[in-house]
Amino acid sequence: MSSHPPSDPTRPGLASSPVNDAPAYVRAIAPYRAGKPIGEVAREYGLNADGIIKLASNENPLGMPASARAAIQAALEDLGRYPDSNCFDLKAAIAARYDVPVDWITLCNGSNDGLELAARAFCGPGQSIVYSQYAFVVYALSTQAIGARAIEVPADRYGHDLDAMAAAIAEDTRVVFVANPNNPTGTFVDARRLEEFLSRVPARVAVVLDEAYTEYLEPEARYDSMGWIRSFPNLIVSRTMSKAYGLAGLRVGFMVAQAPLTDLINRVRQPFNVNSLAQAAAVAALADEAFLARSYELNRKGLAQLEQGFEQLGLEFVPSSGNFVLVRVGRADLINERLLQAGVIVRPVGNYDLPEWLRVTVGLPEENAALLAALAKALAAGGEERKAGGAAEAGDAGRSSAAGAGSAGTVSGGATDSAAEGAAARG
Ligand code: PMP
Repeated sequence: MSSHPPSDPTRPGLASSPVNDAPAYVRAIAPYRAGKPIGEVAREYGLNADGIIKLASNENPLGMPASARAAIQAALEDLGRYPDSNCFDLKAAIAARYDVPVDWITLCNGSNDGLELAARAFCGPGQSIVYSQYAFVVYALSTQAIGARAIEVPADRYGHDLDAMAAAIAEDTRVVFVANPNNPTGTFVDARRLEEFLSRVPARVAVVLDEAYTEYLEPEARYDSMGWIRSFPNLIVSRTMSKAYGLAGLRVGFMVAQAPLTDLINRVRQPFNVNSLAQAAAVAALADEAFLARSYELNRKGLAQLEQGFEQLGLEFVPSSGNFVLVRVGRADLINERLLQAGVIVRPVGNYDLPEWLRVTVGLPEENAALLAALAKALAAGGEERKAGGAAEAGDAGRSSAAGAGSAGTVSGGATDSAAEGAAARG
């Protein structure tokens, strides 16, 4: 039985194998690109890990709260047992904090898990899911993973065009994803427009309102989405403990929706999807108002520092309501490569079809300052190279683009600026 006959007559020559025979919609998924870990950059660039600054994954620069650390220490004793599948204590804490019934809550292994659960619970192969251009990439991934059809609605100035999204809902649409604020653009739609949108979405369509960054909103922008769940039986509010609560490494998120939706979502949830340490830490972090207030304050100042710095460098940016800023640097792959060489990790967003932009997470004041200084240098190096017509700086440009874009010749070899930019950006 050594021969492998082609399993699919429409694809002659392709031998039968688990990979070749996997659903086409799974094989078409582009892998998620996470921010580079510090250890990897240290190894690749021969740098000391202690000196590397990571502003690539929208993490909390304060790290985890001390209250959560203490809760983890206490919970260590019980790791020989399975976690509480029902997350009793954590659900009680969330219910009290947000004034919602316990049976409206789903606990998730990071809110990413919840987004996927919602897609799987409500949508099947061949049906459709609506989301915005430039919206968080996991909406596209969750749609593809279940063989559903994506309806991606063109953005309005990098943000969600809610009118167009409402109009795009088709007969077979089962889920709409809305990120508020959105990642990677930092855009925000105000409560009035959001509530109006909710009232226009047919009751048969689930709306997942992803509020991963909601704790960073200024007081006047905040709104009561948990209260809206009472009037909108198709609304699912998604939150995370990864950002303002500082628990990204533990993986805890939660979704709140009326009981019938919550019941269905929980049927596709792994029974032990949130581990014991994560549950204990989340209970402590939810109660830690002081840490949350510090995270908010630090982020406000950091956003102002970054946006002011970008203005001084003459860079276009999208004003942000999150803990990160999208900034237009032109040859983003080249600039990113130079930042990595300087030990600063940010996030290129070419996978979002934004090849000229970088997303920079707000860090500690000194980290923000270091990023701005490294960025100024990286941009200046680019400028000199252009003026020199590829002569004096060609070696440097060649090395950078070779690693970043795999096309040293194009950038340094006298190509036009725009052609060189294209080559660097596509890499
Ligand atoms: N939603 C948005 C908009 C995000 O930016 C992120 C994190 N990048 C998530 C959800 C998922 O975060 P987590 O799984 O850590 O909760």
